[in-house]
Amino acid sequence: MDKITTSIITIGDELLIGQTIDTNSAWIAQQLNAMGIWVHRRVAIGDVKEDILEALARESAVSDIVLITGGLGPTADDITKPTLCEYFNTRLVQNEAALENVLHIFESRGLALLQRNLDQSMVPESATVINNKRGTAPGMWFEKEGKIYVSMPGVPHEMQGIMEDYVLPQLGKHFDTPAVIHQTLITSGMGESFVAERLTAFEAKLPAHVKLAYLPSYSLLKLRLTAFGKDKLSVAAEVSILFHELKDLVADIVVTDRDMTMGEVLGQLLKEKGKTVATAESCTGGLIASWITAIPGSSAYFKGSVVAYAYETKEQVLGVKPETLQTQGAVSEAVVKEMVAGALSLLDTDYAIAVSGIMGPDGGTPEKPVGTVWVAVGNKDTINTVKFQLRYDRERNTQMTAVYAMNELRKLILQ
Ligand code: AMP
Ligand code: MG
Repeated sequence: MDKITTSIITIGDELLIGQTIDTNSAWIAQQLNAMGIWVHRRVAIGDVKEDILEALARESAVSDIVLITGGLGPTADDITKPTLCEYFNTRLVQNEAALENVLHIFESRGLALLQRNLDQSMVPESATVINNKRGTAPGMWFEKEGKIYVSMPGVPHEMQGIMEDYVLPQLGKHFDTPAVIHQTLITSGMGESFVAERLTAFEAKLPAHVKLAYLPSYSLLKLRLTAFGKDKLSVAAEVSILFHELKDLVADIVVTDRDMTMGEVLGQLLKEKGKTVATAESCTGGLIASWITAIPGSSAYFKGSVVAYAYETKEQVLGVKPETLQTQGAVSEAVVKEMVAGALSLLDTDYAIAVSGIMGPDGGTPEKPVGTVWVAVGNKDTINTVKFQLRYDRERNTQMTAVYAMNELRKLILQ
């Protein structure tokens, strides 16, 4: 089966200077990957006519599909539409449906309409217009010399609406897309090179249409098997056998055999056991609570969090003893233990997580350098503590701490 290939062109000066992170092409790539369409290249360019023309010619020479986002706004910097006219040798004409959409949006928002807003309904004559339910700039579908081009607005949720409503289903009809099956498991406690060493023989015997990907993320490692084939059921059956084999090989380090966040893993476990949890967070500033509550239904097992940043808060709210803080310092085993005990009694939960650490860039000492973190997890009978030494920037250190701490609680619950 021939690969169906796509190039994604994202347009906008803001992308080139890093002011806007190009999330559009990542999102599009995920959607295409899930339906078995190969992303051949992702190209980011500025709002520059020559660059747009060149990218269109170059990408359509190597891909079946060219998906374009950006440059469709009502302001002078956005030049994608006239440039598309030049490329497809056509002219701008008014589109009735697009005009109605613009009028409807402005009416429902009670806004005054400017000529530049009305111009949003002008489209290249040879385009098939795709309605944009979430904004005034329509999507545009072109076909030329056997290639498909789609131009969409840069605003992520507008682009996503157009893709989901129209572009993805149309591409599915247009091409004979293969079946793709992904199966993911997550491990913890072993670096990727050690895991790879253990999986050498397994990887060597994988058939060509099955790939194993190593995706390290914070302190966890995702292992993803992906297989392509003609028939979904037979591909799924084949992957399922290989996935079981893979799971057996890493059984001692598996966290979950699904692609989940740590919040989901912990939530599922707490729900299964009918237990509740609270957090007492210093250096993570509520991040653990935020990750737990990102899961719908978390009120079934999450009672609350104390962000105890200052000494006084640790003392007055969580009941940490002033002597402990004075003699051991806030980043210490004794303090996180008292924080767990305080959270358990204050919030009346089965389990509690406490963290205290030095996230950087400053604040380290020779005894406690930047990156020193103490984690405690416990219930009324047991409190487990672990010390970590992290070595990243503040943001990553904080996220690592949250993952580590949640994983420690997972281990305690399963203990
Ligand atoms: P435009 O269609 O060029 O008017 O884009 C409108 C807005 O969408 C820009 O100001 C950006 O904030 C956002 N945007 C444009 N391209 C992207 C992209 N590739 N990824 C994420 N956001 C984008
Ligand atoms: Mg723009």
